Amino acid sequence: MINVCLDGPAGSGKSTVAKAIAKKLDILYLDTGAMYRACGLKCKKLGIAATDEKAVKSFIGTIDLEIRYIEGAQHTFLDGEDVSDEIRKPDVSMLASAVSAHPCVREKMVEMQRKIAKSTDCVLDGRDIGSFVLPDAKYKFFVTADPKIRAERRFAELTAKGEKVKFDTVYKEIVERDYNDSHRTFSPLVRAKDAVLLDTSSMTPEEVVDFVIGKIEEK
Ligand code: C5P
Repeated sequence: MINVCLDGPAGSGKSTVAKAIAKKLDILYLDTGAMYRACGLKCKKLGIAATDEKAVKSFIGTIDLEIRYIEGAQHTFLDGEDVSDEIRKPDVSMLASAVSAHPCVREKMVEMQRKIAKSTDCVLDGRDIGSFVLPDAKYKFFVTADPKIRAERRFAELTAKGEKVKFDTVYKEIVERDYNDSHRTFSPLVRAKDAVLLDTSSMTPEEVVDFVIGKIEEK
């Protein structure tokens, strides 16, 4: 089974690269962030605080969350509804970061991710794939970039979608998410010891893809 793990902070370019690599290798791409985003959205829909572990525990065990592939693209379904666009909103990013800190949420998501990775060749991107979800995977990368550059990328992405956001807010949220994701007690954002470190600050997406493919071919 081929499992390629791409971890790193928001806006590092890992999802662009993960998609391109999956296409090149003709294998599945699993965006694990989408799963945590769906959990965050569920809190919003239920009107509960994502930080309220007890309330989150009451729904997470039976959450109706499904990942489907439609014409090659990942779609996230929550309670039977396609929420792929809704989960990209900035407020849902913050909810995902808060809800993902609860061990009960991570256990549930990790179980789903391991099941997919065990049955299918895939590229997975996230925060803890190489360090926790698939510690024995052969291909691991930790993708990062300067926080200002990551915020610029995210800002461009959101404005291109018609979102009315301020650069300063996007930057602040990136820094806050970095902090939350790296400081949670259970399975934080961390570079696995055997992951190849890649700083994409001054690289084009094509250069990053070529680098990662080169490393995979070397192994
Ligand atoms: O990658 P993305 O920005 O979509 O992830 C949204 C949030 O989900 C992250 O800020 C992080 O808190 C959480 N996440 C996680 N573990 C993963 C993937 C995402 O905790 N493997």
